[in-house]
Formats: sequence, structure tokens, C-alpha cells
Amino acid sequence: MLPFNFRYFKPQTAQEAVGVYQGAKNQQEIPFYFSGGTELITLGRIGLDYADDVIDLKGLPGYGEIFFHDQFLVIGAGATLTSIEENKNFPLLSKTVSEIADRTARNKITIGGNICGKIFYREAVLPLLIADSLVGIMGAGGLAYKPLNDIFNQTIQLQDGEFVFTILIEKEFLNLSYFTQKRRKQWKTGYPLVTIAAIKRDEEIRMAFSGVCPYPFRSKEMEKDLNDNSLAPEDRAYRAIGSLPSPILDDVEGSKEFRLYVLKNMIADAIRELEGEKVGQ
Ligand SMILES: Cc1cc2nc3c(=O)[nH]c(=O)nc-3n(C[C@H](O)[C@H](O)[C@H](O)COP(=O)(O)OP(=O)(O)OC[C@H]3O[C@@H](n4cnc5c(N)ncnc54)[C@H](O)[C@@H]3O)c2cc1C
Repeated sequence: MLPFNFRYFKPQTAQEAVGVYQGAKNQQEIPFYFSGGTELITLGRIGLDYADDVIDLKGLPGYGEIFFHDQFLVIGAGATLTSIEENKNFPLLSKTVSEIADRTARNKITIGGNICGKIFYREAVLPLLIADSLVGIMGAGGLAYKPLNDIFNQTIQLQDGEFVFTILIEKEFLNLSYFTQKRRKQWKTGYPLVTIAAIKRDEEIRMAFSGVCPYPFRSKEMEKDLNDNSLAPEDRAYRAIGSLPSPILDDVEGSKEFRLYVLKNMIADAIRELEGEKVGQ
């Protein structure tokens, strides 16, 4: 149960959704784009989220669909993690999202909600960052496509009233060699201690991380060290960790010392696997 009342809207077009949002703002109300709704329910219950006007995006045509168009795999922001897990057209993404939360939650959580949410792990963004994805953003001026790497800086940078409508991944990225692994402190579900997603493209390793800093990231500086073939995988991992964008997390999920140890080993395993050595997962 949420401890506040709200008005519920289910627009039938993206323009209508933006219009409802703007209308609420004009009335000094707090609008909320609602996708899977799990975060509003979880955080709203404990007073960490609030809405006067809930705008449910799931009625928008195409919002939950996954299909191919020209050279792209198109994933609607309203596609649930379960549907992406089962779709398998982008195996790295399917495998990464299959480790988020539990099956019941994944049936509700959408990819748009995961990458735009307040809960900072946002693990679904990792494969999208390393695959140079495009994001279709809907706003007052219509739909605009932007490279995710340009607009994702700790969080996705949206203007007030904009929402993510769709995500595009070029076909050439879908079936590259990949590595994805999530380590938790304990149990089979839960937030990550460290999650890594990596691919190898044109002989270069690309890697993105969640659980390491208080936001997910891909770092070009770290990738320089990861691709220094003159060094052993452990040494490359050690050097890359020297370029982390923020101090490593030290929290209930794990101490910074333990995280560093796990991170270094996972990076070395990823390098070995992508360079053709089999490692035990
Ligand atoms: C039980 C549970 C376990 C979890 N475990 C993990 C985990 O292991 N790893 C992990 O990464 N995350 C985890 N999460 C976090 C979860 O992925 C996020 O809370 C996510 O936001 C939920 O998606 P949703 O579709 O339900 O979003 P919603 O609740 O609908 O929305 C979440 C936020 O995103 C905004 N939003 C939603 N859709 C859009 C859009 N299309 N454009 C712009 N903004 C939008 C909303 O306005 C809201 O602020 C967990 C959550 C739960 C409830």
C-alpha cells in the first residue's frame, strides 16, 4: 500500500504522455512516468518516492516490443527483463538481465525502469554502454535518438518531461564474444557486489561495471589498461583498478577490500575468457 493518493493516467500516444506530464507540472504537481512500477511501490512505501500523477507508459504502442528494424535490434523501454531474458537476440543483455532481482520481480521490471531508476545498480545499462546503443528519447519536441554513451553519466541525463521510449543496438554488436558475471556477497538473488559485462570488438576489450562505485559506468581509461597486451591479465586488472572513476564502495554488500579482491579476479577472468582461455564461472 502506498501512503498517498495519486491520479492515474494511461495515455495512448507518446505525445499525450508528455502532455499529461507538462500539464501536471503547470499545476505545480509531481508527475511520475510509470513503467514496471516496482520502484514506486518499493520506495513510495517508505517515503523515498512520491507522485501526484502517475503516467503509465505501458499503453503506448510499441513501448514493450522487441523487433528488428534495418540494422538495429529495437527494444522498447517497456520490455520486461523476463521478455529480454527469453528473447536471446542479444545474448549478453539476456544473460546480464537474467541475474537482476528474482523471476517474479523481472516479470514486472522493465529495461527503461532499470536504466532510469533511482536504485543505483542499473545493471541492464552495462551491455548497452559497451554496445554503443542509441536511445530514443521522447519529449515535447518529439522523438530524438542519442548515443547512450553521450547521455549516460552515472545516471541517464534527461530533460524534465522526457522519457526513454526505445533502445537501439546495431546488429553487428549482438553476437560478439562476451563475458558477463555477477558476484553477490551471498545468496542467489540480491544486489551485486560486482557485476561486469564485457565484449571483444576489433581485438579490443570493452568493459562496464556495476556495484563497484555508487553508479554503473564504462571507463575508456580503464579500457586502455585492459587492452595492454604486453601485460598478464592480473597486471592489466591491477592497473585498470587504479583508474576507477570514484573510490570503490564500502557498504553492507561488501567491504572495499573484499570488493577490490573480487573485482581484480573477475577482470582477469574476463580478459582470459575473451582472449580465448576457458575460465570457470
Ligand atoms: C525486488 C527488487 C530487486 C531488485 N534487484 C536489482 C538488481 O539486482 N539489480 C539492479 O540493477 N536493479 C535491481 N532492482 C532495481 C530495479 O531494477 C529498479 O527499481 C527499476 O527501476 C524497476 O523498473 P520498473 O520498470 O519497475 O520501474 P518504475 O518503478 O516504473 O520506474 C522507476 C523509475 O524510473 C523512471 N522511469 C521508468 N521508465 C522510464 C522511462 N521509460 N523513461 C524515463 N524514466 C523512466 C520512473 O519515473 C521512476 O523514477 C531491484 C528492484 C526490486 C524491486
